[in-house]
Amino acid sequence: MDHAVDDFVREITPRLQAWRRDLHKFAESGWLEFRTATLVAEELHCLGYSLQLGKEVIDAESRMGLPSAEVLAQQEQRAIEQGALPQWLPHFSGGFCGIVATLKTDRPGPVMAFRVDMDALDMSERLAQDHRPFAEGFASCNVGMMHACGHDGHTSIGIGMAHVLKQFESRLCGTIKLIFQPAEEGTRGAKSMVAAGVLDDVDFFTASHLGLGIPAGELICGCDSFLATTKLDVTFRGVASHAGARPEEGKNALLAAAQATLALHTLPQHSAGSSRINVGVLQGGSGRNVVADHALMKVETRGATNEINDFIYQQALQVLAGAATMYGVQHEVRLMGAARSSQPTQPWVNYIRQQARQIPELTSLVDSKEQAAGSEDATYMMERVKEMGGQASYLIFGTELSAGHHNEKFDFNEEVIAIAVKTLVTLACNIQHFRKE
Ligand SMILES: [Zn+2]
Repeated sequence: MDHAVDDFVREITPRLQAWRRDLHKFAESGWLEFRTATLVAEELHCLGYSLQLGKEVIDAESRMGLPSAEVLAQQEQRAIEQGALPQWLPHFSGGFCGIVATLKTDRPGPVMAFRVDMDALDMSERLAQDHRPFAEGFASCNVGMMHACGHDGHTSIGIGMAHVLKQFESRLCGTIKLIFQPAEEGTRGAKSMVAAGVLDDVDFFTASHLGLGIPAGELICGCDSFLATTKLDVTFRGVASHAGARPEEGKNALLAAAQATLALHTLPQHSAGSSRINVGVLQGGSGRNVVADHALMKVETRGATNEINDFIYQQALQVLAGAATMYGVQHEVRLMGAARSSQPTQPWVNYIRQQARQIPELTSLVDSKEQAAGSEDATYMMERVKEMGGQASYLIFGTELSAGHHNEKFDFNEEVIAIAVKTLVTLACNIQHFRKE
């Protein structure tokens, strides 16, 4: 690998670690990344990138699972108190925390895009000495929000790439776009950036994740095992009545939801591949002696392919409608998130594998991941790039984890940040070596 790049990455590594720890401490959940987005915007602006922000890169109507206006306003206030930069905040106000930073060289060449996500999870971090972020003073200070998936690392990787690419700008050709995405958790944000046209001119697209059970030193060059998914909130509305005196006047929303839950869990069957369904939340009713007039379910479906997921999703809609009919109640289904399955393009995966050989810390280069990797909405971006004739892949950088993803003790070995920066920057610097066959 190039010594100058290696030395420069080593020089900025302490700053990237500081970024990661700052973002970890001020964790912000999906669509609420106000502080994070303003700090990223300022850093990339100062480096000389041209920025597209907020509504320029996020289609309002395509946002899924947006928090209420009240929560958005409260959280924006919280972000200001925690140091969000007022000169950038108006762009992101109302849940538009997306950034595309562009570096246009004056040499002809392709458009390359790299996506990182910025959001935390809706959960509280473990505050105990056996958890390094707490012991070293950077555990989340925001109750109910925690970086338990490593997206704080991803944002730091994006910032690191921005520094290195700018430093070695004279070696680049074409255009580089760094995409900072909100609300990946719950697969809610990517679709809105696709709808805003962010991916339409992209020839080469790369998204990446750290961890995911891959050992340190290993790189998955083309993860192809993300499940297509849909996330639904379902509400049933019936009629309340006195459960002892006038039960016949009630319409029982709780029974409709309970019936639907059991029926949904018998669904997943498809000969073409694996599928999943889960009712993760079921709430209903208001009192012991009242026929329940409302119920809420939070449901997700998944499938190994888009077709399988679509099949399970359509079946689920029928079950929900059927259960509502059985009990004479109204029901409403709201789509809260969705992602596709997507296959990486092989020539791009081959190129990534070849280029990654130059990174000494990467001792194992693997094309694809065997077990299902959950879901990821960068698949919307991959599908769009492929649709427009471009190449796309999804990388996983292995690292040691202190606990599984989405666990209150989650933490990762920060060395992976520099490794990822070097690998991704190498892809950009050597693009003239890409071969389509
Ligand atoms: Zn994640």
